[in-house]
Amino acid sequence: MFSDKEEFKSEFKSQLEEKLGKTVTTASDFDTYRALGGLIREKINKNWLKTDQGYRENKNKQVYYFSMEFLMGRLLGNNLLNMNVLSLVEDGLDDLGLSLSELEEKESDPGLGNGGLGRLAACFLDSLASLNLAGHGYGLRYKYGMFDQHFIDGKQVELPDYWLSKEFIWEVRRPEEAIEVRFGGHVSSTKGENGKLHFKYEDYEPINAIPYDVPVVGYHNETVNTLRLWSAEPTIENTVAKAEKEGEFGHFLQHKRSLEAISEFLYPDDSTAEGKELRLKQEYFLVSAGVQSIVQSFETLGLPWSSFPEKAALHINDTHPALVIPELMRILMDEKGVGWEEAWEITQNSVSYTNHTTLSEALESWPVGLVRSLLPRIFMIIDEINERFCQALWRTYPGDFDRIADLAIVADGQVKMAHLSIVGSHSINGVAKLHTEILKKREMKRFYDTFPDRFNNKTNGITHRRWLMHANRPLTSAITEAIGEDWIRQPGQLTKLLNRKDDLPFLDRLHDIKQKNKIDLSNWVQETQGIAVDPESIFDVHIKRLHGYKRQLLNALHIMHLYNELKSDPTLDIVPRTFFFGAKAAPSYHFAKKVIQLINRIADVVNHDPDVNEYIKVVFLPNYSVSIAERIIPASNVSEQISMATKEASGTGNMKFMMNGALTLGTMDGANVEIHELVGDDNLYIFGLRSDEVWDYYRNGSYSSKAVYENDQRVRHTLDQLIHYSPFSKGETEFQEIYDALLTYNDEYFVLKDFASYVLAQKKVSQDYQRKRQWNLKSLVNIAQSGVFSSDRTIQEYARDIWDIQRVTTLK
Ligand SMILES: *Cc1c(COP(=O)(O)O)cnc(C)c1O
Repeated sequence: MFSDKEEFKSEFKSQLEEKLGKTVTTASDFDTYRALGGLIREKINKNWLKTDQGYRENKNKQVYYFSMEFLMGRLLGNNLLNMNVLSLVEDGLDDLGLSLSELEEKESDPGLGNGGLGRLAACFLDSLASLNLAGHGYGLRYKYGMFDQHFIDGKQVELPDYWLSKEFIWEVRRPEEAIEVRFGGHVSSTKGENGKLHFKYEDYEPINAIPYDVPVVGYHNETVNTLRLWSAEPTIENTVAKAEKEGEFGHFLQHKRSLEAISEFLYPDDSTAEGKELRLKQEYFLVSAGVQSIVQSFETLGLPWSSFPEKAALHINDTHPALVIPELMRILMDEKGVGWEEAWEITQNSVSYTNHTTLSEALESWPVGLVRSLLPRIFMIIDEINERFCQALWRTYPGDFDRIADLAIVADGQVKMAHLSIVGSHSINGVAKLHTEILKKREMKRFYDTFPDRFNNKTNGITHRRWLMHANRPLTSAITEAIGEDWIRQPGQLTKLLNRKDDLPFLDRLHDIKQKNKIDLSNWVQETQGIAVDPESIFDVHIKRLHGYKRQLLNALHIMHLYNELKSDPTLDIVPRTFFFGAKAAPSYHFAKKVIQLINRIADVVNHDPDVNEYIKVVFLPNYSVSIAERIIPASNVSEQISMATKEASGTGNMKFMMNGALTLGTMDGANVEIHELVGDDNLYIFGLRSDEVWDYYRNGSYSSKAVYENDQRVRHTLDQLIHYSPFSKGETEFQEIYDALLTYNDEYFVLKDFASYVLAQKKVSQDYQRKRQWNLKSLVNIAQSGVFSSDRTIQEYARDIWDIQRVTTLK
């Protein structure tokens, strides 16, 4: 590494000159970024190699985290932080008249994920490396990531995100480690001498999986793990064969494109399973390439197959990679000659599964016909797993047809991926206490009855390195000056801040930092959106995917209500607020897109009405992403976590806000319940129905949104404004869909039911915010209690309870 700033400057200048033929003055910003990134990558390489060799020599057990999504965010700043050269590089660049933060902006933010699930995977990789744990990510190298969101006339428009158009400097292509993945064809079997069946696979379509490796740098240690992203390419043999057969180059190109389509784009649906053939191909492509490469590297150890689970843990992030189960079985049996019983034991002992949702529309199932034609051998194996599982159930519950049909993996012409995941793994975890209880007591009750020992909770976390140390450096310094730096290695020690409750200068400092962050955000909003916001106002932030259950609509209706109040009583005493939104809607999710349009309309009306715009403003930032989250969260006062109770499995946005001193305004849902448990009633704002109340309504069928509409004139007024000519609507049918969802279809997510209690909670927020010292104290308590939500804690629990791995001590 660089011994000092001068050494860095000289190496950086040579990099520019020798690699790019440029000087500091002639290089473009992107060239400068590239030179800096290139230099840092060279520094990473030594430890990367060393880590890899160390793992091999010591035969450490490796964790492979399979995920269809990794929402990494930009890497330059985080790598510099973890390599302990952030300030040195920043100062060196400063000497050269360059700004590190401006260079960081030149990196495209790789959007290889939809939201929480993909971001969790990214936080986990950071924690694994930082804790010296041998864990790697396996994902897909989508050519197009999450779409770019633009607003035209307030409506969402999706543009392709061709993030690779700017070179992604962190990846290394490794064609020598390509793996062949096979689709289609048919399977025949012959009996061998010992009576064993041999399966032969013919007429399949081979596709090359090329790994692109991205280094994952640990914090102030020598560990550099790997995120391996697979890319689909035609195999040479297949291409030649096709060209000969078709005799035409045009066909060849078409064929090439159809194969490359597998890693072409990320499905932009959050919380819905689409059932498209290409998606299933993507899933198997990731799984097969990954499992084959894991088996290959296990074989270099020269150990018996029975020790496979001692050397490899295969974790599946939701059910998308559930085919690791039949794929590992296939390889062990068909290619390595292991018998069914042993292969099954090895598979179960290696695989573990995280469930992320109980929303029924998100549960994956695939038509039997599709699985059978696309993956004939895999289907045979799934079918056999199902057969044996159902027989075992029959022995335990003889005659209980209902239960067996309910638990079967293959039923009603569908392959149920959650069932496959549960049956084929040794651990099934939920992502927050409430969520895990819901799995055990309700959604997966019968599986829990069958396999009680497999179910466990691992409350999600976020990496405090990115979300606090990198996103909010002033707060990081203030914390370290107050309690020393042990909290960085042991975030649980943030509770030491509780001793500062009476330290007025410290509370003032927290306030000043928040204020400074709010001013920075305001300037950025002015520059990029042309909206003037008041940094003295409450920054109330609702950023996450747009979904009915997340209830952005509740927030929107409340703003309409505030507007109406202000219009009817201009003397109303109201604490100024700026409402921030950021959210992408799945392109096919009409209702969610309507809500975006409504919020943009509200922003337009509110921001341009001089009667109200001194008090309230609405800012909908387009293209919500990791880098935008990093800008907004350090500047927020209020964290909107207002999902309908029982629907949000955990949430991780809630944790990022808490760690940055924002106060949660939320329902008793997901990890909000645990935030509440930690900070107590005085330090957050809980409102709305509790989970058991929601279930009571479900059981009685007694919720009537019309009754709320008829009894609450505020609700009636705002809803009528959606469909009649009003400041918010040109009348006619513009927002009819929203009106109908709330009234005609009885408000699936209990928005109207929770409206009154939300209004009250918002009033309380406004009152409390005026008592600055009290508010700062609440903010302090939130920061102090947030250490539990570091993903380091989460990963230590996974390592101990699920993966059975220890810190690798040969690395510093
Ligand atoms: C943290 C994060 C999420 C998850 O947010 P929730 O509020 O938990 O839904 C989604 N997208 C991005 C970009 C994030 O950083």
